[in-house]
Amino acid sequence: MLSIITDGQTLLLILALLYLTECLIWVKKQSVAFVSASGRRWRLATPISWLGNANGAMLILNPVPPPGRVYLSHLLPVSISPSGVCAFNSQTLPSGARPATQTGEFISFSAISNPGTDGAYLVLNGQKFAKCATPKQAKALASIIDALSKAKPARRESLLRSWLAKQFDARAATRLWREAEDSIAVIRWCCSIFFVFMFFGVPVLVTLYGLEQLIIPVAAGIVALALQIVFLFFRAHRKFYPAESQERLESMAKMVLCPPVSLRAADGLTRNLLAEYSPIVVANVLAGQEGEGASQFAREFVLDLQHPLKHEVTDAAAAETIDWMNAAQLKACLEHVARDRKAAGKSLLKAAQREGDSISYCPRCLVQFVVAGDECPDCPGVVLVAFSDSEKEVTLSQTSG
Ligand SMILES: [Zn+2]
Repeated sequence: MLSIITDGQTLLLILALLYLTECLIWVKKQSVAFVSASGRRWRLATPISWLGNANGAMLILNPVPPPGRVYLSHLLPVSISPSGVCAFNSQTLPSGARPATQTGEFISFSAISNPGTDGAYLVLNGQKFAKCATPKQAKALASIIDALSKAKPARRESLLRSWLAKQFDARAATRLWREAEDSIAVIRWCCSIFFVFMFFGVPVLVTLYGLEQLIIPVAAGIVALALQIVFLFFRAHRKFYPAESQERLESMAKMVLCPPVSLRAADGLTRNLLAEYSPIVVANVLAGQEGEGASQFAREFVLDLQHPLKHEVTDAAAAETIDWMNAAQLKACLEHVARDRKAAGKSLLKAAQREGDSISYCPRCLVQFVVAGDECPDCPGVVLVAFSDSEKEVTLSQTSG
């Protein structure tokens, strides 16, 4: 009897460990994760830095069901201008530095033929050009670069701007999010019921009746619940990720072979659902109108675009493309904020309030300094602004507005 219970406990421990590994996700340097405990506000999740490397870090999702409370958004791994593509994006996220994989290589549209992908890599002229956050992002980039390289040079700017505008379409993002939340709700329920069965029902039954007698009915129950989730997952995934058949198949195979994986099926549906929208839009959609965290994120996002960190790309055409993309992103962000004044507009463009004896501040991270200096120690390449200057600026803008 004693040894049978021990077997049961070992099995339960293995199932629990398998489940917990499914609660870990890798968040790349160019990605942000938004999470929420059930019924709570969405917030920016910070990956654990010591569980990471130069390219990203591990994030532990709340293991308590329901799953599917995580959405990611990714920066582009490249800059695109009407003249060409550069494997560098000057934007950074609150998680800090730019990913080490950005080479800064530049190719003009006239020199590009047949853009393609290899997994998460964007392939230009037969070479891996940039590593994207997901294969889907790589495919999207390959298709816009293909369209741009075939278009007449005079048409490229408007094509590119309308492609960017789609990433800032908050209405479409909200619509998609609501629709998905409705479809995923039933999967969340199934996952939660399965969780209770596996980690509470099974141990109680096994303790009462012994593992030997129950092993077949318990296994049958687990497989049945997992298959139910796999079926629902398949339907929802096909609806929201119609082109990602390989990812769909891989996820389903994992769930069938290892049922505890299916307990987190909803994560796989929400994770990249809004990934094609700009992080500032995703923050806004999830946090709704009054999210304080969203406006803080939006503020940092815009300030980073207004005052980008310096970079080592020296090639003139490459630098021009990086600057063009940065300016285009900033314009789109400010338009988004202006459309959505209630959420972020008010606090977003507020001037820094002078504290104590500060004589200057960093216009990017807004840290204030009591000693003179020309560059912010935390933001390489960003010149400090003296308070006397900024007060003048504020008065000027107030009189003109
Ligand atoms: Zn700074």
